[in-house]
Amino acid sequence: MPDSAPLPVHATDTVTPRRQVRHDHFAPGDRVVVIRGSLDGDLHGDDLTVVAPSWHTPTGQDGWRTRNPQGGAHTFTTAHPRYLVHVERRCPDCVAFFRALAAELLPQLPKRGCTEGDWYRFTALDQLVHRDDYGLAA
Ligand SMILES: [Zn+2]
Repeated sequence: MPDSAPLPVHATDTVTPRRQVRHDHFAPGDRVVVIRGSLDGDLHGDDLTVVAPSWHTPTGQDGWRTRNPQGGAHTFTTAHPRYLVHVERRCPDCVAFFRALAAELLPQLPKRGCTEGDWYRFTALDQLVHRDDYGLAA
């Protein structure tokens, strides 16, 4: 996300919770993005590097430790594999997921400006958790 504070927006993401992706679809060194909002009408998010396998506490499943090269408050976080999208490899799975996400989210988001959606949050232990997984985190 850019330094200027993005506009907080509400949108419903039913695509991510339904995504079936294997943990080993990703590997250390992969460049990925987590879609957390929009920029001038396109999906936008955090560019991250996959670091190592890590337990995703909110879901109780295998996740990935990721590093944000931009640093900031959430440099190292843990995400569930279904939150991640490959940015370098045009793999069919991630492309299909991204397109489905765009089809659902973009009509709900402003056409201009930078937004941050409310479908993700961080736990106190820097675990990224999707709104659909909040209940599991409680
Ligand atoms: Zn992929």
